[in-house]
Amino acid sequence: MTVQAHLYHWLWGTLDALFPPRCAGCGREGTRWCEDCQRKVQVLKPPLCPHCGEPGFESLCPSCRQHPPAFTQLRAWSLYADPIRTALHQLKYRRNLGLGEALALSLVDFVRSLNWPVEAIVPIPLSQKRYQERGYNQVATFAYPLALHLGLPYLGHALHRTRDTRSQVGLSAHERRENVHNAFQAREKLVRGKQILLVDDVATTGSTLSSAANALLIAGAQAVYAVTLARANSLSLGGTYDA
Ligand SMILES: [Zn+2]
Ligand SMILES: [Zn+2]
Repeated sequence: MTVQAHLYHWLWGTLDALFPPRCAGCGREGTRWCEDCQRKVQVLKPPLCPHCGEPGFESLCPSCRQHPPAFTQLRAWSLYADPIRTALHQLKYRRNLGLGEALALSLVDFVRSLNWPVEAIVPIPLSQKRYQERGYNQVATFAYPLALHLGLPYLGHALHRTRDTRSQVGLSAHERRENVHNAFQAREKLVRGKQILLVDDVATTGSTLSSAANALLIAGAQAVYAVTLARANSLSLGGTYDA
């Protein structure tokens, strides 16, 4: 753990001691993310599509065969189901920064286990409009401490959205790709020649991550790997998560 990671961790521990929080998964008092909820997380297990990480495929899934994503690999830590679903909702609408730190700790081990040669962390950004409405990017709440724990540079401004895309909820795989096509731009100065770890909260088809990876590659990134906290089931497209 880096010094900054220790400090960040200590800061949230101290705040929690002063203002006892509730668990973001079950509401229990005294902790941000209780041990019961941690145990209930459904960590994704193989078989997974080797490219996009879609569960249930021993080899390339039909979607990757037809439309190979721009990222080298995408992996999600867990299935998008409770208690993670409730916790991610809290991250998004309640500005639960301490929860972001707790979830980042789970991602640290997961990312290490992937053995990717990544050199910098880039979060998926919100559009300017969304950012102004919400006041923060929920992805940053865990991507920033993740970078601290891994000892990697955090490039919070490497990507921006070129337009305000409509919600992906309720769209088909094809509509999702169209919706986010060319929706991102990357800063060449920050990403050229680098192997990037792109971070988002939830992936469904991976179309947003692929579009963002494409922008990073156009700006000269050497390779882009992508990780998310959760993976929504693309068989139930039109799920409830508004990314
Ligand atoms: Zn709990
Ligand atoms: Zn795939």
